[in-house]
Amino acid sequence: MVEVQTALSVASEQLRIAAEKLNLDSGIHEMLKRPKRSLIVSITMKMDNGETGVFTGCRVQHNDARGPFKGGIRYHPNVTLDEVTALAMWMTWKCAVVDIPYGGAKGGVCCNPKEMSKGELERLTRRYTSLLLDFIGPYRDVPAPDVYTNAQTMAWIMDTYSQFKGYSVPECVTGKPLSVGGSEGRAEATSRGVVLCAREAAKKSGLKLKGATVAVQGYGNVGWNAAKIVYGMGCKIVAVSDSKGGIYCPEGLDPYEVYEHKSKTGSVINYKEYEGITNEELLEIKCDILIPAALENQITKANAGNIKAKIIAEGANGPTTPEADKVLHEKGILLVPDILANSGGVTVSYFEWVQNLTREHWTLKEVNLKLENKIVKAFNDVYKTATQKESNMRTAALTLGVGRVSEAIKTLGIWP
Ligand code: NAD
Repeated sequence: MVEVQTALSVASEQLRIAAEKLNLDSGIHEMLKRPKRSLIVSITMKMDNGETGVFTGCRVQHNDARGPFKGGIRYHPNVTLDEVTALAMWMTWKCAVVDIPYGGAKGGVCCNPKEMSKGELERLTRRYTSLLLDFIGPYRDVPAPDVYTNAQTMAWIMDTYSQFKGYSVPECVTGKPLSVGGSEGRAEATSRGVVLCAREAAKKSGLKLKGATVAVQGYGNVGWNAAKIVYGMGCKIVAVSDSKGGIYCPEGLDPYEVYEHKSKTGSVINYKEYEGITNEELLEIKCDILIPAALENQITKANAGNIKAKIIAEGANGPTTPEADKVLHEKGILLVPDILANSGGVTVSYFEWVQNLTREHWTLKEVNLKLENKIVKAFNDVYKTATQKESNMRTAALTLGVGRVSEAIKTLGIWP
């Protein structure tokens, strides 16, 4: 029987490997296995049909040794406390790897946003925020969007928090619309970080970016923006896909036209005369750079051996299983792991927070330049750790992240 690995079991195993590499103090390892605080709330609200709806939500704060907690809020029917705990732990390492002064947190509400009206989502968000009020805030815990939450959700959180305080507090949440203190470049930031990591990996592999072939799995926020940015750098997009399937064009396709087609028809499939491929086939096609930007568990022990890309830059969270990691490393594929590759989003969230705290508004050029500096530095830190510790990039990123967090814990000391 195949053993199903939960997100938390994967996260715990990753922590164990990093702890071993670092020869980590057993007490600190024990401390990092668990979140500092987990809050479960019951969200009671009026539904449009007059009935009373009750939803379970949570906020998990993993570690704040390096700064306030930071992490997204997810609305999804399958949200569990275990999954949110794993995601909070990954946020702790991600913020440490990219070296921004935050700890890690994550929130979730078990609901089906696709079946809820805008009014219901607003009431859910405001009630959830009111229940978290004593636990979040600009210097405590700063939420952001995640799956099925967006800039509008963040604006409702900001407004609810501000109404309770009696004054406007834009710095209590990031990923907001520009009109209420959002940052330039936030919407594309995750993808820009993914592409910058792919570019740095190409330099290390001696691969010329101009004309390099790229396949992108997933054509949502991360996938489409990554395709657009990499195309702008002179790469050739040979395949893209979404939940309905993919298209293959060895001569290279125009990502803007494909986006327009998807906006009209709901999918990238059936675009012009391009050959249709499945998502499984997309992962295995001949290309230089593969960008998984859809779901978790896409590259597994079953297909890792067939992957032909030279570089994989993980836009999605958890697209590769630990068993597949080993196979890819043995094949000599340079994989840039999620906690490094998709850290551009939280980095620009940090910039948004700084701008809000100082009441400034930076230009897009400034934001993108600062993002590039952060990501390139993080990539090189991880690459150096991988070389020194003779490990793959994932283990190196985890070792670097866990190492920085444990250093902060030791320096602060254990109170009392
Ligand atoms: P999204 O909902 O905008 O897009 C997801 C895309 O994946 C869609 O095109 C969808 O059709 C496609 N998809 C769904 N099921 C699929 C399947 N079985 N096969 C292939 N494609 C499928 O989401 P997003 O914001 O682009 O996030 C994508 C991934 O990136 C997620 O793992 C998310 O956690 C991660 N991520 C996102 C951000 C961000 O800033 N948006 C930041 C860090 C990590």
